[in-house]
Amino acid sequence: MDINLYNTLTKRKEKFEPINSKEVRIYSCGPTVYKDATIGNMRTNIFQDVLRRTLKYNGYKLKHAMNITDVGHLVSDGDDGEDKMLKSAREEKKTPLQIAEHYTKLFFQDLEELNIETPEIICKATEHINEMLEYVKKLVESGYAYETSTAIYFDISKLDKYPILSNIDIEKQKAGARVEVDEEKRNPSDFALWIKAPENHLMKWDSPWGPSYPGWHIECSAMGQKYLGEQFDIHTGGIDLIPTHHENEIAQSKGKCGKIPAKYWLHGEYLLIDGGKMSKSLGNAYLIKDIKEKGYDPISYKLFSYSCHYRNKLNFTWEAIEASSKSLEKLRNSYKTNLNGKDELTKENLEKLQQIEENFHKAINDDLNMPLAMSFVWEAAKFEKKNKEIANLLEKFDTVLGIKINKADSEIEEINEEVKELLEKRRIARENKDWSKSDEIRDIINQKGYIVKDTKEGQKLEKLNK
Ligand code: AMP
Ligand code: ZN
Repeated sequence: MDINLYNTLTKRKEKFEPINSKEVRIYSCGPTVYKDATIGNMRTNIFQDVLRRTLKYNGYKLKHAMNITDVGHLVSDGDDGEDKMLKSAREEKKTPLQIAEHYTKLFFQDLEELNIETPEIICKATEHINEMLEYVKKLVESGYAYETSTAIYFDISKLDKYPILSNIDIEKQKAGARVEVDEEKRNPSDFALWIKAPENHLMKWDSPWGPSYPGWHIECSAMGQKYLGEQFDIHTGGIDLIPTHHENEIAQSKGKCGKIPAKYWLHGEYLLIDGGKMSKSLGNAYLIKDIKEKGYDPISYKLFSYSCHYRNKLNFTWEAIEASSKSLEKLRNSYKTNLNGKDELTKENLEKLQQIEENFHKAINDDLNMPLAMSFVWEAAKFEKKNKEIANLLEKFDTVLGIKINKADSEIEEINEEVKELLEKRRIARENKDWSKSDEIRDIINQKGYIVKDTKEGQKLEKLNK
């Protein structure tokens, strides 16, 4: 069955035809590990996971690389401002390495909580300085890059076309530029490949241009090429990466080898909160940890994200998570009931189930249409008969959904005495509206491997994922 994907490069849905049919090569722009990943960041990771799983469902083998940006991503996303890693290190009074290690670990914990597959290749920017330097040297040698007193810049006027991925109007940018004009730049949209480090800069490496550090865009070009070759199949990321980061990756690659690095460019839309942007200052930049602490299985968030196509904005509310949590329970219960179901399936039933399977497949292959795919998952889950065949079908669907549909009963059969006592103490604390004590006990219960959910029927205990 054909797979069709919306390609940002051509602005239309296209039939997916891999360069090498044996192995699909994908590059995903990974996290900048300077702060906690939000549920917004995780939406992008979930979309990438669905892409991986859909390709595998269709029989493809994958070589998927994701970078960890631990240097060079400046606060502005462009060439202005402090390095995000250094800013965090200063604010948290740690070294950049400690910051990177801490947030990288948390990032992978979040992926695990959401049952997101880890790409085959994980590459850190600071471990690929040589590859990046070689890339920049090549661009300078071939006249695509030039040195100024502060950096090595890419000269966009050397390309036949820039931009090609986004609709940014560089003429307008020139006229209305509010950013300070760098007189040394040949063109206002030229961007930094390599940045000369000021005297006390913490992260810097020797280079032909003195102590300096890489720009954010060169990292992905150099690592993508190292692990996947000059041209690979799919490049993914969040929608915000289109006009700067991905545009510039394409420019670099065209300069170095005359090729656009990927055939298909896929971008996920943003997660909104209460209809607006997530931000730390508004106190609504939620994390997976927050979802868990409210007593929900983090996978409820994954299921919630399937209510919307990845190319549409999705609005987060706690009510929606509550609803998804119930849906998750229903799906898992349906799996269990079907696993033990003894209803006989007629020829007509079997034909219907086959149709559901085909419809599901068509939906995921149609640019990862998860809302539509979910409607067929529900058709199977609510099927008029209960039979092991249906449990098998749900398990097959779960290779794409990744919601652990066959997870063992969420009810706890054996609660140890200590946890029982803690639950009782928490119940009393809540009766007395002693919320801080209630939270304190919840944390202790958490440490013992359970999460407490406050439902209308009272406290409910669930075993933690692992
Ligand atoms: P960062 O770690 O800040 O570089 O972010 C990693 C990626 O997460 C970004 O490039 C975005 O594409 C994505 N991202 C950030 N915020 C959101 C959001 N609210 N919704 C979806 N994706 C997001
Ligand atoms: Zn990137």
